[in-house]
Amino acid sequence: MSNTEQTLSIIKPDAVERNLQDEIKKNFVENGFNIKDEKKIHISKNEAEEFYKVHQSKPFYPELCSYLSSGPIIVMILERQNAILENRKLMGATDPAKADEGTLRKKYGISIDKNSVHGSDSLDNAKKEIDFFFNS
Ligand code: UDP
Ligand code: MG
Repeated sequence: MSNTEQTLSIIKPDAVERNLQDEIKKNFVENGFNIKDEKKIHISKNEAEEFYKVHQSKPFYPELCSYLSSGPIIVMILERQNAILENRKLMGATDPAKADEGTLRKKYGISIDKNSVHGSDSLDNAKKEIDFFFNS
């Protein structure tokens, strides 16, 4: 039985600014992910607020939304078996200082806010997030 899933990945402004997108994409491909679709975009603060709505009560929400809309990002649909969990494992902990060796956030992240990549955390959110960027 196949368990092929799709998840949404974002290469965040800090990584695009440092021109790390090709290297980060290589990590995905080497780890068995198929990049089904991708685009480089620069979203507005309003769009970032909508995307991160689940965090609206958090103290870091305003800065998080300013940050995600501060420069170009790469949004991608990644596909593989167990894509959601496997991408979360590849990304590592939210705080790069706590992320395991070899994970993307350990390798590329600068700080808890500038942590280089986003990945959906559940099947339901993956569907919503893919829809948000690709089916509008
Ligand atoms: N974030 C932050 N400060 C915090 C916690 C999170 O700036 O104390 C940012 C961080 O960039 C993170 C994003 O908010 O990637 C979303 O937080 P979440 O808890 O969903 O972490 P993730 O799912 O990205 O690991
Ligand atoms: Mg999250």
